[in-house]
Amino acid sequence: AYTRVLDIHEKHLSPALTTYFPEPLLLHQGHMEWLFDYQGNRYLDFFSGIVTVSVGHCHPKVNAVAQKQMGRLWHTSCHFFHPQMHEYAEKLSALLPEPLKVIFLINSGSEANDLAMLMARAHSHNTDIISFRGGYHGSSPYTLSLSNVGLFKMTLPSGTGCQSLFSIRIRHLIILILSDALTHQALEQCAQTFSVAFGEEATVEIHQCKQLGNALVHQVPRGREGDCCQAKDRYIEQFKDTLNTSVAKSIAGFFVEPIQGVNGVVQYPKGFLKEAFKLVRERGGVCVADEVQTGFGRLGSHFWGFQTHGVLPDIVTMAKGIANGFPMAAVVTTPEIAKSLAKSLCHFNTFGGNPMACAIGSAVLEVIKEENLQENSHEVGIYMLLKFAKLRDEFEIIGDVRGKGLMIGIEMVKDKTFRIAPSMCVTKPDADFAVEVFRSALIQHMERKAK
Ligand code: PMP
Repeated sequence: AYTRVLDIHEKHLSPALTTYFPEPLLLHQGHMEWLFDYQGNRYLDFFSGIVTVSVGHCHPKVNAVAQKQMGRLWHTSCHFFHPQMHEYAEKLSALLPEPLKVIFLINSGSEANDLAMLMARAHSHNTDIISFRGGYHGSSPYTLSLSNVGLFKMTLPSGTGCQSLFSIRIRHLIILILSDALTHQALEQCAQTFSVAFGEEATVEIHQCKQLGNALVHQVPRGREGDCCQAKDRYIEQFKDTLNTSVAKSIAGFFVEPIQGVNGVVQYPKGFLKEAFKLVRERGGVCVADEVQTGFGRLGSHFWGFQTHGVLPDIVTMAKGIANGFPMAAVVTTPEIAKSLAKSLCHFNTFGGNPMACAIGSAVLEVIKEENLQENSHEVGIYMLLKFAKLRDEFEIIGDVRGKGLMIGIEMVKDKTFRIAPSMCVTKPDADFAVEVFRSALIQHMERKAK
């Protein structure tokens, strides 16, 4: 059966689909934090379907709700009401602070950020969008141009997304500015501004990207995470300089992940986002927290990642863990921003807010509460972080161990990061097991290298 699957995969599935394993796993079943293959081997799932299976595979309560709803009503389109949508909207809004009370239901994180971009532009009447290099916000043309993680950066076909990409890298902080109006001349002007701002440490170059138009890339060597955490004031100064350049005057929105996920669990200096939000708002832009990975209690100490920074965004985008693996996403914003969008376009989509997704989403929220999964993320997260951090003393190859709750990154020297993000039902014995497996893998690696 396995060879047949590989054969079909090669013939009929997208060659762009990547797998992390030389021999991809053929999975058959899941139960809570465990996955099973056809041979009956059991795997502790420490990535939960890209940080998505929030409460556990085939969680019995979520399954029961899904089965009940499946026998009742699947789809009505957003033009007809059904109680599942309204119940869900009420439940979700109760988890967000004022004035974040208006909910748009859609199907994926990319759609959520696309919609947030439209909202930011409609509300601010500006066009430019700012995000960080290393940020990942989706795979649609607009969100791809907003993302800048090595693998995804150059894959944008010409003529899609924003015309130009403007990127400044200051250690971990890399800023992108997207605009339909950037000219080569404007970029040169920026390059000069940045050379002056960063002095000798900076090398500023303009890159002509084949597929993206002009890109300004500011490169300095990658630092260790410790450097970045002491760098708040410097970050703020550099952020200010960025905003003061001629190309960034009309800011529509600023997109940020409270912790960068795809880029390898990268955290910002404490207090930096608060100041960044203020600076963006002074220039008329709105602030968007991309909670696609960090939301729904995963970070343990708070339900939303933005709360860990003490900021209040104007728009929050969420997906992945929202429905434990069922396609669903949401954008939550203020009544004012929601009105601005409604004035400029009639927004709807076919599947958004469908009865299945909403019923499952409600069950997920109930399970997180009933089973204290946010508290569990906090407790097991700290326990596991300390255990992994200990391995740093044992293995030179581990450069850094960081993260919050059940979003942990282990940076291997040579710029690779292991990301650990199990379902929130994970236990301390699971954590012990995972650390031991990781440890023995490293020992094998070192032994192979020594030969
Ligand atoms: N934002 C973040 C922070 C993400 O990690 C992802 C997915 N990895 C997305 C947006 C896009 O979500 P989706 O794949 O559901 O479109």
